[in-house]
Amino acid sequence: MDPTWHADECLSCTLQGFRERAEAQGTPAPAATAIWRGFMVEGAHPSVKPDERRCTEIVGDQDTRKFALRHEDGAETESVLLPGVGKTGRRRTTLCVSSQVGCAMGCTFCATATMGRNRNLQTAEILAQWHCATHELGASIDNIVFMGMGEPMDNFDNILQAIKVLTDGAGPAIGARHIGVSTVGHVEGIERLTQAMAAGGLRSLRLAVSINSPDDERRSELMPITRRWGLDEVADALRKWIAAGGRPLLLEWVLIPGVTDNPQYARALADRFGDIPCRVNVIPYNPIEGRDWIAPDQPTIDTFMQAVADTGMRVHRRATLGRKAGGACGQLITASIRRRTPAR
Ligand code: SF4
Repeated sequence: MDPTWHADECLSCTLQGFRERAEAQGTPAPAATAIWRGFMVEGAHPSVKPDERRCTEIVGDQDTRKFALRHEDGAETESVLLPGVGKTGRRRTTLCVSSQVGCAMGCTFCATATMGRNRNLQTAEILAQWHCATHELGASIDNIVFMGMGEPMDNFDNILQAIKVLTDGAGPAIGARHIGVSTVGHVEGIERLTQAMAAGGLRSLRLAVSINSPDDERRSELMPITRRWGLDEVADALRKWIAAGGRPLLLEWVLIPGVTDNPQYARALADRFGDIPCRVNVIPYNPIEGRDWIAPDQPTIDTFMQAVADTGMRVHRRATLGRKAGGACGQLITASIRRRTPAR
């Protein structure tokens, strides 16, 4: 049978959406179901043209696997498979997906920022990362985090549709409680995600917000988004998330020696966010090219975490994985794009 469907037509739709599209073109619902499920669950179907994106696995370390996807227009994104252990002791795999090619947010601790924003990823291009990891690299994915290249809230419609496809029980079937969206504090996006979460089906979605500084002045130097939305506005948006029934939040803190590691900052963090159900996730800084900052040593990490714990806030350390392979938090940048796009 000659293929009649493009891979992206499956990747961008839930089963219901694909059936409606297929029925409008004269394909009966049972055949449409077989096509969509064949491509999404089995990895291929004779009626779907094979996905022509090139998937290249890049060297990993500590069991992480970083891979690059070259999309149809030649743009590249990176994704990372991260090993972990769940609460029951079972091994779990998390896929960190990109939502944009590059990023416009300009966070100074992040390699992706040096690319600037090239473009948003379409829903199918986000799902292609899951499809490639599952069916080409053979990974069994338990969790998805939108923490790769790009600010997810800056590409809201496509990431929301991607979450709907990922949670479709007939296809990827990844529960909303296993999906996390991480933002720099894009208040408009947080408010839209709150509405979508509360509307049903996504109540257990996880939301993480990158904080990193005790006040707007210092934060503006690290995260230019602060000039648009200050920490008070971020805190208000997070209170609305909780009031609408959202799960406790993750507040991310990238720990950079000499920049964000002052133990007194923990008190300022608690003063502003202490009334919001949350946990502080300390992320030891991962060095990137072009910055003199170094990774914190263990005593620095311990001191800051103790300072947070002393305020009464829950605190956790993010495992450092994939640093040598350039696949750790804040390190994602594609070499070919770096060559094309001058660093700012
Ligand atoms: S940390 Fe996230 S939002 Fe900030 S520049 Fe990097 S990819 Fe963009």
